[in-house]
Amino acid sequence: MFAPRAVCVCCLSLFGTDEGFICSSCREKLRPLYLPGKSETEICLECGEVVDAGACPGCGRRSPPTLRAFSAYEYEGIIRELVHCFKFGGVYALSEWMAGEMLQALAAPGKGNFTRIVPVPMYPLRKLARGYNQAEKLAGELSKRLGIQKSDLLKRIRNTKSQVTLATAERRKNLKNAFRAVSRADGERILLVDDVRTTGSTVSECARTLLAAGCENVTVLTFANAKVKEKAPFNEQSDAGNRT
Ligand SMILES: [Zn+2]
Ligand SMILES: [Zn+2]
Repeated sequence: MFAPRAVCVCCLSLFGTDEGFICSSCREKLRPLYLPGKSETEICLECGEVVDAGACPGCGRRSPPTLRAFSAYEYEGIIRELVHCFKFGGVYALSEWMAGEMLQALAAPGKGNFTRIVPVPMYPLRKLARGYNQAEKLAGELSKRLGIQKSDLLKRIRNTKSQVTLATAERRKNLKNAFRAVSRADGERILLVDDVRTTGSTVSECARTLLAAGCENVTVLTFANAKVKEKAPFNEQSDAGNRT
C-alpha cells in the first residue's frame, strides 16, 4: 500500500496528502504573525497606512479614524511565492489552507461578530482575464467556516492604474470612486477580505465606501501584508494592491 502523495507547493517534493499543500519542512520555515501576536494593526481609514500613535505617516492626519486590520503573514519569501501560485498559477485550492491561517490571525473575540464577509472586488474585465478573483475564493472559504454570509456588496466600477509606483496622495486619487456599494448596508458589521494588503490604500477605500453605505464597522482581514518598513519605495510589480 502506498500512502497518498501530494506535491508541496513550496519545494515541489512529494509528501503525504494529509498534511495539506505544504510539506512539514516548509511549514516549519513559516513565521505566522499570529504566533508572536502581531497579526493585528490599526490602519488609517483615509490612506491605509499603519498608524502606531499620533500622526499618520501616510496622509499626515493627526489622529485619523482607523480600521482594525488582521494578517496571518508578512508578504515575503515563501509566502510571496505561495500567493503568486494562488493568484497567477491558478492553484486556488490553496485558499482552503490560506483561509485557515487567516482565521487564526483574526482575534478570537471578533470571530462571530460579523454580519457579512465582503471580498475586495476586481474590475470585471480583469476578472474575466484571470478567470477568478482570489479575494472571492478566500471570502468563500471563510464564509463556510464562520457560517457568515459572503456578499458581493462592493463593485469595482473603474479600472485603476498600477498602485505600486504612486505616492500615498496619488494612490488615494487613483482609487477615488473606484468602488461602489450595490445597496445600502445599514448597521452591517463587515469582514473585508483580500489576499494581500500592500499599501492599504485599496482596503481603506473599500472601507470608506462601505461606511458611506451605512455599515456600522469594517474589519480588514488579509492573508499577508507588506512589511511596514519596506513599504516605501515598494518595487514589487505584481501584488494585490496593484490589482486593477
Ligand atoms: Zn515543501
Ligand atoms: Zn493616513
